[in-house]
Amino acid sequence: MDVDLNTQSLDALLTEQSIDCPYCGEVISILIDHDNLPASYIEDCQVCCQPIQINISIDSDASDASEGAIAVIDVHRDNE
Ligand SMILES: [Zn+2]
Repeated sequence: MDVDLNTQSLDALLTEQSIDCPYCGEVISILIDHDNLPASYIEDCQVCCQPIQINISIDSDASDASEGAIAVIDVHRDNE
């Protein structure tokens, strides 16, 4: 049986970021999987339950690469 020791490091690639809901303006927290970028998905607001379109790209100009690529988060209303 193979044991993939790399799986134990996956948690470290998840970082919590705060975004402003484009509907109600409340600050909510989302988890970013840095091992799966860029990413685009819809997440329901934790406050008003509206669907938020979340686009996460990688800032290739980031000079501080000590923690890997810097994620750039863009949020939109789903119906725009
Ligand atoms: Zn909201």
